[in-house]
Amino acid sequence: MHELDTATLRKYDSDYLWHPFTQMSEWEGADNPVITHGEGSYLIDSDGNRYLDGVAALWTNVHGHCKKEINEAIKEQVDRLEHSTLLGLTNDRAALLAKRLVDIAPSGLCKVFYSDNGSTAVEIGVKMAFQYQMQQGKPGKTKFIAFDNAYHGDTVGSMSVGGIDIYHATYKPLLFPTIKAPSTYCYRCSLCEARDPKRCGMECLKELERLMEEHAPELAGLVIEPAVQGAGGMIVQPEGYLKKVRELCDRYDVLMVADEVAVGFGRTGAMFACAKAGITPDIMALSKGISAGYLPLAATLTTRKVYDAFWGEYAELKTFFHGHTFTGNPIACAAALANLDLFESERLLENLVPKIAYLKERLQGLLALPHVGDVRHEGMIGGIELVRDRESRDPYPWEERVGVRVCLEARKHGLFLRPLGNVIVVFPPLSISMDELKILMDGIEKSIVAITGE
Ligand code: PMP
Repeated sequence: MHELDTATLRKYDSDYLWHPFTQMSEWEGADNPVITHGEGSYLIDSDGNRYLDGVAALWTNVHGHCKKEINEAIKEQVDRLEHSTLLGLTNDRAALLAKRLVDIAPSGLCKVFYSDNGSTAVEIGVKMAFQYQMQQGKPGKTKFIAFDNAYHGDTVGSMSVGGIDIYHATYKPLLFPTIKAPSTYCYRCSLCEARDPKRCGMECLKELERLMEEHAPELAGLVIEPAVQGAGGMIVQPEGYLKKVRELCDRYDVLMVADEVAVGFGRTGAMFACAKAGITPDIMALSKGISAGYLPLAATLTTRKVYDAFWGEYAELKTFFHGHTFTGNPIACAAALANLDLFESERLLENLVPKIAYLKERLQGLLALPHVGDVRHEGMIGGIELVRDRESRDPYPWEERVGVRVCLEARKHGLFLRPLGNVIVVFPPLSISMDELKILMDGIEKSIVAITGE
């Protein structure tokens, strides 16, 4: 392939590319790294600079960049079949992966519906839950419970069940209305005085129960990010919370749609957050880690109960009329199969145990810094919330871009990070070594000190 120099690549990027979630007036003309290679936990730019990837290439990477076994599986598949269709045919990779997903999923999830990204995986879950209720003869059950600070993607349907104003407010007139339940954002809880996980009375759960009881006859489903609300700021749920949500869904005949797009595939230390919590949702959305971060692939898993509601004669119109062109793409499925093989052969979940303990300890240690207000931790996920004033929990004003500045500072220490407002995100490839994790946490600490002071 013809290699271009960095200046030309930056010019082409500035002239022709429109970046996601990016104010392009800040982007164009800046010296942004042009990534050309990946190696283990590192991304490498066109000038040969190496960046330790602290966010797993947008929360997707599992076994490191350019993992030999996955590369090989993809190369092999390309020479056999690049794409077919699941509309009228099936393919070997998609069928095998469906079986393997069901084998590892929380028990009771037994059918796999493929798509290409997290937003569609959730949107499919929403459509399935809605249609399920219709086909159960409950046409009044059309609404959804969604959570403050939730993020489920950027399509119109997945935005509708989101709850982050800066991303969603502009599009509000396009979105369907939902019933909003409070998030488990203990540090800034508006329902309880303590605002402390150790003294939490789970007022948020009581409010959820009240809402579900009030709206039960019109509720089709509840959409939730299990364990951690990701884009909302790595907001962790208290122990036992998910189990209670499952009980409420059962009590009020509401389908539970679990969005494991970010937390699925080992991120919480277990294969799936729902299984860790001892529950099975009615519908579970997966993406990101499914292909180890290699290729666009998503899956929405359902129980027999949901699947059976779509069974009938064609003329009954009970069919799930949904499907994208690249559904069940065999190259992506081959990458996913190699990913699952590596989970086993490298005993990935077992090897996470000491890393999770170390991450927890380092996050706790950051509370010694005067402008670290809160640290949140779950598995291989960390959120560090920076505040202007720790006593009052007064946030840094948005315009000061403190999170962005810390991440740019971290780049000087050879790290790639991306914040969520004032929250510094720690979300490395699961394969990161202990030494690399130490480098990552040291760099984050130094960068926070450099920007916010000792
Ligand atoms: N759900 C969750 C929990 C996510 O974190 C994301 C992506 N950050 C999505 C859905 C949307 O996934 P995608 O960007 O692949 O559409």
